[in-house]
Amino acid sequence: MSITTTAPNFIKNIIIDDLKSGKHKSIITRFPPEPNGYLHIGHAKSICLNFGLAEEFDGKVNMRFDDTNPLKEDVEYVESIKNDVQWLGFKWDDLFFASDYFDEMYRRAKILIKKGLAFVDDSTQEEIRAQRGTLTEPGTNSPYRDRTVEENLDLFERMKDGEFPDGSKVLRAKIDMSSPNIHFRDPVIYRISHNEHHNTGNKWCIYPMYSFAHPLEDAIEGITHSICTLEFEDQRPLYDWFVENTEMENTPRQYEFARLNMTNTVMSKRKLKLLVDENIVDGWDDPRMPTISGLRRRGFTPESIRTFCQEIGVSKAASVVDSQMLDFFLREDLLPKTQTLMGVLNPLKLVITNYPEGKSEKLTIENNPKNESMGSREVTFSRELYIEREDFMEVPVKKYFRLFPGNEVRLKGAYFVKCNEVIKDEDGNVIEIHCTYDPETKSGSGFTGRKVKSTIHWVDANNALPCEFRLFEPLILDDDEDDSAHFLDKINPNSLIIKEGFVEKEPMKNIKAFDKFQLVRNGFYSVDNKYSTEEKPVLNRIVPLKSSFKIKKQG
Ligand code: ATP
Ligand code: MG
Repeated sequence: MSITTTAPNFIKNIIIDDLKSGKHKSIITRFPPEPNGYLHIGHAKSICLNFGLAEEFDGKVNMRFDDTNPLKEDVEYVESIKNDVQWLGFKWDDLFFASDYFDEMYRRAKILIKKGLAFVDDSTQEEIRAQRGTLTEPGTNSPYRDRTVEENLDLFERMKDGEFPDGSKVLRAKIDMSSPNIHFRDPVIYRISHNEHHNTGNKWCIYPMYSFAHPLEDAIEGITHSICTLEFEDQRPLYDWFVENTEMENTPRQYEFARLNMTNTVMSKRKLKLLVDENIVDGWDDPRMPTISGLRRRGFTPESIRTFCQEIGVSKAASVVDSQMLDFFLREDLLPKTQTLMGVLNPLKLVITNYPEGKSEKLTIENNPKNESMGSREVTFSRELYIEREDFMEVPVKKYFRLFPGNEVRLKGAYFVKCNEVIKDEDGNVIEIHCTYDPETKSGSGFTGRKVKSTIHWVDANNALPCEFRLFEPLILDDDEDDSAHFLDKINPNSLIIKEGFVEKEPMKNIKAFDKFQLVRNGFYSVDNKYSTEEKPVLNRIVPLKSSFKIKKQG
């Protein structure tokens, strides 16, 4: 069975029809990132869709780097993108670089020139912008529009040969400056840029623009269904125009779907790069980043991301997905398969004054209350323990049933303890609490003598491994896409919270980067791959255990 089967959606229906009618014998899709940054969760939606459809219909999917802009692209990004796609669980059929088609694109641009459908323009960028007109007013023709075919061929070749400086000339398609579709108003298709390219080096100093390059790339590869986001809907007629007029053998078709937007989540490589460049985060894989590598480092699993992408569906209606939905699928994935350990993030020493000094006993605790097949483990118990500071209040508030002087609670998997004394430092801070335990109340002993209202967890101080816990809050307090200018003002100064505490020692032996587990009453954790050491694990909280978020499962 396919792991990537997509839920029903309009693109899938189109494909079913195309295969049924014989328009296509088989399909080819592609995932075409520009290697100018790391992939984010929005890209995952596109990856799941393109790879998922190819797999489901027994077609092919190309991994294609849309690398037509030498200034922004880098091999570091190429490598990270390949790695992320594979980590998500996908395999491409062929891998291509758009830059490998530069010769072909150049040749096709000359076809346009020869047909009188393209011209070399000496107008400046500002002049071209001014010529374009507005949605309500037609544009005006460039004074260079009527150059002869010979002149255009000569100038274009000299552009290629490096005779002209950056910005001095462009090649424009010659279509219709009064077209109601602004994209038809003589779009620029080539520009001069004397910059080294990560793949082609210094071979080229002219580079094709996206709107020209993309349809040609699709056609060259024989893509049948070219799936992109809605912003490109208005460009579809131009896409078709380029395919037709450059006399491509294949006719790919473009289909648009709504991009993924998520609450409190920056979904633009440009902004994410800013966070990296300004050192606001610890690189592209900072666990707070919505990049695939950030999610991986935080502890998200490929399964949870794929399920998320499947459940959000594919449509033409723009919407904003609650980021808690991704958390939900992570919990669903990890709940049955991770070990549940006891750990305290904010430790308070608890001394059992009537428990013999030097004594230690082994208690049996289940590994996963939601999955019996995971068995149980032995946890040591002794006179000194750590509990969570939150589980004690010297002066309890109303309805507080955990530890306070005079109150009795159960220590998970162990005994009832009653708090008798509070030890403070000279500033009045509670540093230790003294309790007595009742040996009769051992868990599993069938004790029914009296009841307590609360069970708290603990770690044996003799067998506690010091750990650093990293808790995360959204990086951006409110990401209003229209308010780009103030983006950096919206950074949440408290998005990383570091705690020093303890986790049971035994199960933490031999842990390695990306290992995952639950901490009782707290959350899911993953071992950080950058800072964690054997002596001092650094544990990233993937998500807290509980959330108010509810999801309606599809039937
Ligand atoms: P960004 O604006 O973040 O740089 P992009 O669209 O420019 O994104 P590309 O590298 O060009 O990034 O994208 C590769 C593919 O991923 C494209 O087909 C694009 O449509 C798709 N994609 C990018 N962002 C999203 C998103 N938020 N939701 C769904 N698909 C997306
Ligand atoms: Mg882009």
